[in-house]
Amino acid sequence: MKQFDTLFLDRDGILNKKIENGYVLDFDQVEIIAGAKDFLQIAADHFRRIVVVTNQRCIGLGLLSSEKLVQINYSINQLAGSFVDKFYVCPHLTEDNCTCRKPKTGLFLIAQKDYNIDFTRSWMIGDSETDLIPAKQLQIFTLFRSEQDSSFADKNFKSFDELASLLEE
Ligand SMILES: [Mg+2]
Ligand SMILES: [Zn+2]
Repeated sequence: MKQFDTLFLDRDGILNKKIENGYVLDFDQVEIIAGAKDFLQIAADHFRRIVVVTNQRCIGLGLLSSEKLVQINYSINQLAGSFVDKFYVCPHLTEDNCTCRKPKTGLFLIAQKDYNIDFTRSWMIGDSETDLIPAKQLQIFTLFRSEQDSSFADKNFKSFDELASLLEE
């Protein structure tokens, strides 16, 4: 049995570079973050599965079609080594008041239904506290990637190399 259950990842700012004040709307805007692929390769040995949970309000705003988002996600996954088993997307706007937009827990709960996930043996890696809030609520171990540490996170890190050593401990 693997040491951990599920590795949850945010997408923008974790797998691919975030577009400041905008959205990834086309393939040429995809740039994979340094070290992400190597980290995922190691993580794949320690987790039963790797899934992405991502807010994409660009869909709700009508800037991107769901079909194209699926293609962009596929491309991001390929460029990052194809270690992601599934992408869970909230396409809604805040004012839609859905149950899936992070910091709500909906995306995590849908994933749990699909895979019967043990949250207490799972990790969530995000670059915003919005990612950490629902994870913590579900007792998932939270990791925060940022220049500035969050007191909310269980673990702060700046580069993926640091995280790899955490798994190999
Ligand atoms: Mg993000
Ligand atoms: Zn939603």
